[in-house]
Amino acid sequence: MSLPMHEAVMPLAKQLKETHALSLAEYETLIRYRTPEAAAYLAEEAVKVRKEIYGNAVFVRGLIEFSNYCKNDCLYCGIRRSNRSAERYRLRDEEILACCDEGYGLGFRTFVLQSGEDGAYSDERLCALIRRIKEAHPDCAVTLSIGERSFASYEKLYQAGADRYLLRHETADQAHYETLHPKEMSFAHRMECLQALRQIGYQTGCGFMVGSPGQTPHTLAEDLKFVESFRPDMCGIGPFIPHHETPFANAAAGTVELTCYLLSILRLIYPPVLLPSTTALGTIDPKGREKGILAGANVLMPNLSPRTVRKKYDLYDNKICTEEEAAECRGCLEARISAIGYKIVTDRGDIRK
Ligand code: SAH
Repeated sequence: MSLPMHEAVMPLAKQLKETHALSLAEYETLIRYRTPEAAAYLAEEAVKVRKEIYGNAVFVRGLIEFSNYCKNDCLYCGIRRSNRSAERYRLRDEEILACCDEGYGLGFRTFVLQSGEDGAYSDERLCALIRRIKEAHPDCAVTLSIGERSFASYEKLYQAGADRYLLRHETADQAHYETLHPKEMSFAHRMECLQALRQIGYQTGCGFMVGSPGQTPHTLAEDLKFVESFRPDMCGIGPFIPHHETPFANAAAGTVELTCYLLSILRLIYPPVLLPSTTALGTIDPKGREKGILAGANVLMPNLSPRTVRKKYDLYDNKICTEEEAAECRGCLEARISAIGYKIVTDRGDIRK
């Protein structure tokens, strides 16, 4: 038996498919009164539009988590500076380059360099590193995911050859943002960074956690409205998962169902968007990454970090793939993806606008 408001959902889903846009209140209704029927419909339509643009190709990015030092203190994150029990590590430039070489051999044509906000990596050091990666692998894209920096810094890194930048906005609701971050971090600055990245010329990615503490259908509707207007090249979403050494240790995790529902909606809002099916999704459900692809995602970001540091890049509890070598992860994903009728391709995987 569905309640009257649930009856509003299917027409909104159909409208979204036609117009690629809804009002804030409509997104909120679509989320609050989600039904299994609407989820199935949205997933089917999302898969259809993605097939028109990308066929059955799934793009992969080799993720190199090169440092877990962080000057920030985000309340949800396991590598926040207040977590004294985090075992900190930094990779040397040579180690990062070796990860890229290994990844290249495994068919990766994008390397994502991710870290906490670690002052040890100056613009000069990062620029030199980016140049060396691009020299060694000119047919590859370099993506950075290293947090908030100055306009001048972003510009230098871009000129050194970085192609893309991932900076999740985390939530498009300022009051919600302030409950997830310490006082010294600002919503306005995060948004300014995203605008700067786009202006400089990066393929730019935003994104948010699903089920973060304090999130509501209303704040999620704001996220969708933001994506609708910003039209990011990439949008990274994954469930929030509590980390035992953070203030949110006892908060509930996000769900695979809501994450997949939002993936389908994002695909329909902006059909060409590059949407990863994240490791966090694979962590809360053994088939999570497959479910994400079947809901409309088209990117996977397996880990290329040396096995010795994987456990230490500990954003949330029980993260998967911390015992495997890069080649094992690659083989495992290959099998999982072909089992659902898709194909991992050796390609930079740029957005097809
Ligand atoms: N310092 C970089 C990289 C952050 S880690 C930056 O600021 O962009 C990458 C992403 O992991 C974050 O943007 C956040 O959305 C996600 N994340 C952090 N803690 C998490 C948790 N407990 N559960 C799920 N995702 C989390």
